Amino acid sequence: YPAAVLSGTAIARQIHKEIQASVEQLVAQGNRRPHLAVILVGDDPASRVYVRNKTRAASLLGISSSALLRPAGVSQAELLDLIDQMNRDWRVSGLLVQLPLPGHINERAVCNAIAPEKDVDGFHIVNIGKLVLDQRTMVPATPAAVWEIIKRTGIETVGKNVLVVGRSKNVGMPIAMLLHSDRNHERPGGDATVTIAHRCTPRDQLAHHCRLADIVIAAAGVPQLITADMVKEGAVVIDVGINRIHETGSGRIRLVGDVDFEGVQQKAGFITPVPGGVGPVTIAMVMKNTVTAARNALAH
Ligand code: ADP
Repeated sequence: YPAAVLSGTAIARQIHKEIQASVEQLVAQGNRRPHLAVILVGDDPASRVYVRNKTRAASLLGISSSALLRPAGVSQAELLDLIDQMNRDWRVSGLLVQLPLPGHINERAVCNAIAPEKDVDGFHIVNIGKLVLDQRTMVPATPAAVWEIIKRTGIETVGKNVLVVGRSKNVGMPIAMLLHSDRNHERPGGDATVTIAHRCTPRDQLAHHCRLADIVIAAAGVPQLITADMVKEGAVVIDVGINRIHETGSGRIRLVGDVDFEGVQQKAGFITPVPGGVGPVTIAMVMKNTVTAARNALAH
């Protein structure tokens, strides 16, 4: 029988309700609305969509927001100066810089320039360090979304085999961190046995590890990478991939994940679609981090 399709849209809606309640409580207590500032450099169409999705979600949830647009040619010094202004602006609760940045700008320097307590993407080196040490911190939104989908669906992770396909510092690595670490630590982990595959993993070995996995998390950016023959009967398959492919014939651009959805659906127990899976939950987690940042600022 076919897998249950995990609706990220439905899970995001549930998280949105919790965030709205939290925001309204803050406001009822006489505080300003949380504010998210998003910096966008250049005019990459995908990045523009992401930024618009974030500011739109914010306004739906009662979070105020601003999109700060800079041309692709902006200098690194100008960008760092803008970040510094936002860091010092007490009205700004959360701040993120949409990645990727143009080649002449050092992304690491930019991520490290954001005040760690406003870093709603969780990319500051101190926040990554805390994540790796299982300390409470801003968890990057995509890994946090994968975690929420698993937990809210009631999927057991303790002692399970998890395969994470992809080792990027913003996605694959932190997902693996969350799932392998100890459930009794300050930032609870999944206590799973985690394997990380990446571009040096031969295809036959990828298939081999995949067949052992109770949970497969695909974050490689390769369409059709995970096929039905690789998946264990009843496995949980979470598709983090967002690939834009030109449809043959129509020439239209279509969004697909890293998983052969049609095929894998016949074999898996749970599967997330693309679009409508991890994506909407990721946006919700940026909003949640913004409210957390606003609350933390009050406590100081
Ligand atoms: P994201 O930010 O979504 O993780 P990246 O493009 O930064 O995307 O990273 C892609 C990751 O996927 C890299 O860690 C890379 O090693 C991994 N990867 C790419 N191709 C394959 C493949 N064929 N099999 C397994 N992993 C792969």
